[in-house]
Amino acid sequence: MAIREVLKMGNPLLREFSQPVPENEMTGPELKALIADMFDTMEHEQGIGIAAPQIGVLKQVAIVGLPGGNPRYQEHEEEEADYEPLVVINPQIKPLTEEVDAHWEGCLSVPGLRGLVERPNKIQVEFFDPEGALHSLVAEGFVATIFQHEIDHLFGNLYVDRVKDPKNLSFNEEFEKYHLDSQEDE
Ligand code: ZN
Repeated sequence: MAIREVLKMGNPLLREFSQPVPENEMTGPELKALIADMFDTMEHEQGIGIAAPQIGVLKQVAIVGLPGGNPRYQEHEEEEADYEPLVVINPQIKPLTEEVDAHWEGCLSVPGLRGLVERPNKIQVEFFDPEGALHSLVAEGFVATIFQHEIDHLFGNLYVDRVKDPKNLSFNEEFEKYHLDSQEDE
């Protein structure tokens, strides 16, 4: 379909609440076109996930990249990411624990930066797929973080809002030099 411009931090649209997709529109042509544009844009930007508001569409749709082998966060940007994309529509998250994991996150809307964010490490996610079927799953560890990062976008939140200590913000090059080894990934 089309590669769209990714909105960057500072654009007020990234701070808006997105609207749920009505059930009778989930399988419609408009949403199919939106999802195709999101895939094209994500692949062009070499991202592992993207949310509709990042291309300026305030609908509750996100693509979540589920790591299979070498997620982008742990490898150099140039390398081919190994992940399975999952489209989620109208997702809802329920934390299943008070326990948190800290992961270094990056975002297409905040280019060049990483930040250490603590999030609940076990969550339940309910969402519709592009066929309009309702799913419920439990995500843990890094995968739980990936879901929460993308779904945050649908409610006007960016990961930088959740970096507790601004000392844990880093440019990519410095991240790889000084912080990659200290990453607490499982
Ligand atoms: Zn993001």
